[in-house]
Amino acid sequence: MDRRSFIRASALGGTAAAATSLAAPAIAASHARTLTFVTTWGRGLAGVHDAAQRVADSINAMSDGSLNVELKAAGELVGAFEVFDAVTSGQADMYHGADYYFVGQHPAYAFFTGVPFGSTAQETMIWYYQDGGKELHDELGEIFGLKSFIAGNTGAQAGGWFNKEINSPEDFQGLKFRMPGLGGQALGKLGASIQNLPGGEVYQALASGAIDGTEWIGPWADEKAGFQEITKTYYTAGFHEPGVALSVAMNRDVFDSLTPGQQKIIEIASLESHQWNLSQFIANNGAALARLQSGGVKVLEFPDVVWDAFAGASREVFEENMSDDIFKRTYDSLQASIKSTSGWLAQSEGVYTKQRARVFS
Ligand code: CA
Repeated sequence: MDRRSFIRASALGGTAAAATSLAAPAIAASHARTLTFVTTWGRGLAGVHDAAQRVADSINAMSDGSLNVELKAAGELVGAFEVFDAVTSGQADMYHGADYYFVGQHPAYAFFTGVPFGSTAQETMIWYYQDGGKELHDELGEIFGLKSFIAGNTGAQAGGWFNKEINSPEDFQGLKFRMPGLGGQALGKLGASIQNLPGGEVYQALASGAIDGTEWIGPWADEKAGFQEITKTYYTAGFHEPGVALSVAMNRDVFDSLTPGQQKIIEIASLESHQWNLSQFIANNGAALARLQSGGVKVLEFPDVVWDAFAGASREVFEENMSDDIFKRTYDSLQASIKSTSGWLAQSEGVYTKQRARVFS
């Protein structure tokens, strides 16, 4: 065995290390490869930063020290919305973020976070791993030199925080509202003035009156962000982000230079964070909503006439993007998956959950 393959085997915890008196971790540490990991999240943003940190910690642990992921939160190396260019240019090795921040780079990136009236978290997972979503993510990545994986999920997001009640579509006229992605484009069609701010800047914008309202995530993350200190009108289910996935994207050259084992570690760490993060958000949301309500927050649902307007505006936004081939194929792929999946889920889980209260309520 030559020296190079000896080191590789040792770093991977192979038999070479076990057969020598040298401690494998000592060898690994001296040859650890550092990966600079930028994120779209301010350090400490509940849930979303946690998902990125979870990916970094898992890669570092699973690689037995052969990889050393250094997480740089938004603003520490580049700004939140600069992570895409930082990774494609090679300034950073990988990012964690919400891919719909990058609809300017390609509109189909919206699907890999979430689209209006789209998939729930479970349906997103099914589409991504069984019905062609992952392959479409790869196809987009080939354009930009990225290798992407979904790596976090917030579950269904809330409609958001408003400075007044929303009783008709006209109430959006002139409303300065923070909402990224295709959902924001749809609200724009209802006359809202849409701003796309990174999470770390939303509180200040709302507090200063630069925006009249915002969506962020859901009760737990929103409470942590402190929006209830500014406004007390909160809408639960939103139309815009029903099962939001977060993503890891690695510079393709960097990914290709990793060993097959290291590549698998990146993939599995991302998948594990997707599932762990979904459980984290959902487990915390119910208690957080109760705290918000006991603190004086009025929790409302949009009336049907507003949902009708959301749907009409969303269909317009989809239609406007259909001239792009990848966008159209991604839309069609997601539609087909939801149609198949939701039919079965309604007949199985849907029927069952109505009956479950007989024993577990
Ligand atoms: Ca959101």
